[in-house]
Amino acid sequence: MDKKDIIQGLQALLGEDRVQTAPEIIRKASTDYIGFRQYERFDGQDWVPKAACVVQPRNTAEVSQALAFLNKHGLSTVPRTGGSSVTQSIEPEEGGVILDGQEMNGVLSLNEQDMMVTVRCGTPLEYLENYLNRHGYTGGHFPQSLPLAHVGGLIATRSIGQFSTLYGGIEDLLVGLEAVLADGEVIRIKNSPRRSVGPDLRHLFIGSEGMLGFITEATLKIFPYTPETRWMNSWAIQGMDQGLALIREVMTTGYRPAVVRLHDAEEVQKMFGDAVPGGSSVLLFLAEGPAPITAAIGQGIREIAGRYPVQDLGSRPVESWLQTRNDVCYRMDEPVYHKQGMVADTCEISAPWSAIGEIYGAVIERLPREMPNLVFIGGHSSHSYVQGTNIYFTFSFLVDKGVESARPDYMKVITVMMEETLKRGGSIAHHHGSGKYRTRWMPEEHGSSYPLLRKLKSSLDPRGILNRGVLLTD
Ligand SMILES: Cc1cc2nc3c(=O)[nH]c(=O)nc-3n(C[C@H](O)[C@H](O)[C@H](O)COP(=O)(O)OP(=O)(O)OC[C@H]3O[C@@H](n4cnc5c(N)ncnc54)[C@H](O)[C@@H]3O)c2cc1C
Repeated sequence: MDKKDIIQGLQALLGEDRVQTAPEIIRKASTDYIGFRQYERFDGQDWVPKAACVVQPRNTAEVSQALAFLNKHGLSTVPRTGGSSVTQSIEPEEGGVILDGQEMNGVLSLNEQDMMVTVRCGTPLEYLENYLNRHGYTGGHFPQSLPLAHVGGLIATRSIGQFSTLYGGIEDLLVGLEAVLADGEVIRIKNSPRRSVGPDLRHLFIGSEGMLGFITEATLKIFPYTPETRWMNSWAIQGMDQGLALIREVMTTGYRPAVVRLHDAEEVQKMFGDAVPGGSSVLLFLAEGPAPITAAIGQGIREIAGRYPVQDLGSRPVESWLQTRNDVCYRMDEPVYHKQGMVADTCEISAPWSAIGEIYGAVIERLPREMPNLVFIGGHSSHSYVQGTNIYFTFSFLVDKGVESARPDYMKVITVMMEETLKRGGSIAHHHGSGKYRTRWMPEEHGSSYPLLRKLKSSLDPRGILNRGVLLTD
C-alpha cells in the first residue's frame, strides 16, 4: 500500500483531522531522547526514518478501527503517548504509522472506597499526581520523567519511580486495564485486589513496549498523601561497596523507606558540590507514611548507619535532591551538551547483591581504558530490593570524529555495560526497556525463555505490525 492510500484509508475511517501528515508533527512524534539522536538533531541531522502519518484517535473505538485497518494491510505501527522514551522505542519504520494516544487523556473515575483511579492512556503523569494531591492522595509513582511521561507509556515500559522502595514499580501499581489488540479486538482486564485465575494477564502489557497491543485505559492504586510526616537523612560514605552493603542491610532487615539512593563520588561532585565531602559517595534516605512508621524507619536506618564509617550530613542533601530531581526534563530540548561537542546520557542495569558491586566496578574501570574520548562515567543505585539493586550509569563522551561517530561511540559505551552485566548474571535494563538499541542482547538476557516472547508475539500480533524492532531480534 503506498503512502497516499494509507493516509486516505485512515482519513476515511477516522476523519481528516485525526491523521496528521505535516513533516514537523511526524518528526516530533518519531523522535525520543536517546543521547546520540539528541546530538544528531542539534547538529542539524535528521536521520530518523519517516513515518507516513501520525494517527491521533480520540477514544478506544477509534483505536480499534485504526488497528483493524493497519492490521488488514500489514502496516508497521508504533504506539506512543508522552514521547519521553530514551531507547529509540518510538522510532517508526520508513512509511509506517505512529498511533499517538495523547488526545485520549483525563481521569475517568476516582474510587476512594477501593483506593484506585481510572485514567485514559494519554493522561500526563504530572497532571494525574496533581489531581490526586488535590483530593488528598498520591499515586506513589515519581519517575524523573514525571513532567513528560503519560500513563500508557509508563505501563508499556515497566516504569519505576524515585519512591519505589515503598510504592514499587508500575507493575505493583496497576490494578486493571483496557487494551486493543493488533487486529482491533478490545480487551479489558478487570480490577481486583488479587485473584487466582491463571497467569496474570496484566503482565502481557506491562513492559511490552507497544508490541503486543495498545493500552487505552488503566486503573492505578492510590495512597494517602502525607508529605508532612516524612523523615529524611543522608550520610557520606567511602566507596560504593560500603554504601551498597549498608543499603543491603537496610533492605534485608525489613525497613521500607520510600527513597534509597547511593551516588558515587563522581556524581556527588556534580550534584552536591561542597555539601558532601570530596571523594565520598552519598546515601540519601526518605521515609513517608504515618508518623509512627516513618519515625521507626528513621531510627532503624540510623542504627544501621552507625555500624558503618559514615559522616552524618543531615537532611539538607535529600532536600536539595528533592527540589532539583526533575529539572533535567525542562532542559531536554536545550543543546547543553552539544554545545560542548559531547553526547551525554544514562543507562540502567540491575543485579543481585552478590554481583552488583562487581558490575559497577568493571564498567567504571573498563570504559576509560577503552574509550579515549570518554569525558565522564559515574553511577548511582536508586531502586533497591531484598535481593539486589540497580545501577544507573551516567556518562558523556566527546564526539571527536564528526557527527557520524556519535552513534557507534554511544553503542561502544552501551556494549561495555551490557557485556559486564550479562557476564555476571545481571539484567541489562532495569526500567527504560529494550527499545530498539538494546534488542540484540535480549536473547542472552532471557536465555531459554526467549522463545516464549516470540510465541506471544505471533499469537497476539500474527502479522507483526506492532512496534517492530523492540524486544525481538527480527
Ligand atoms: C529526563 C528523563 C527521565 C526519565 N526518568 C525515568 C525514570 O525515573 N523512570 C523510568 O521508568 N523511566 C524514566 N524515563 C524514561 C521514560 O520517561 C519512560 O520510559 C516512560 O515510561 C515513557 O512514557 P511515555 O508516555 O513518554 O512513552 P512513549 O515514549 O510515548 O513510549 C514509550 C514506549 O511505550 C510504548 N507505548 C506508549 N504508549 C503506549 C500505549 N498507549 N499502548 C502501548 N504501548 C505504548 C511505545 O511504543 C514505546 O515502546 C526518563 C526519560 C527522560 C527523558
